[in-house]
Amino acid sequence: MSVFGEPSEQQRRVWRVRDLVRSLAVEWFAATEVREPVGDTAITRPVLADPLAGLRAAVLSRWVAAGQVRDYALDARGAGRSWAEVASVLGFDDHDAPGVVAFEHVAERGGRTGPRWDRVWWRCASCGQRVADTGPYSSHPSEVETGHAETCARHAADVAAWAERTGWGQ
Ligand SMILES: [Zn+2]
Repeated sequence: MSVFGEPSEQQRRVWRVRDLVRSLAVEWFAATEVREPVGDTAITRPVLADPLAGLRAAVLSRWVAAGQVRDYALDARGAGRSWAEVASVLGFDDHDAPGVVAFEHVAERGGRTGPRWDRVWWRCASCGQRVADTGPYSSHPSEVETGHAETCARHAADVAAWAERTGWGQ
């Protein structure tokens, strides 16, 4: 990172999140902000007098964000997005089967006995039903998604697209 030149959009986002975590440390853990110089320059930046308060805010933010990764991924599936699209946002495009990796990431149940994952549930935005999703291990929509209403337009379109793609009967 240079002091000079325009920061990229990604850098601005990183700074924004850092600012939020620091302000949460002030709000939640009574941390105080002090200013320290940036390198050998006369420029200063705000830092926390007690770094442990920053650590607390960062750990709590990470825990909440991890829950939101799961919630938004499931909402995206409910809204009609594919596991491949979810995988792309999660940064899994380089894997052999990005959709499967995304499903396993979202469905993972750390520390529980039994299978590590088997299915997730989301609310279909098309038919309003709660759908069980066993992951993109099979190509037929009815084998991986159960619970759509019989009249669900999205599911009917998915099945029709599958028939078109495979050349098989529905
Ligand atoms: Zn549906």
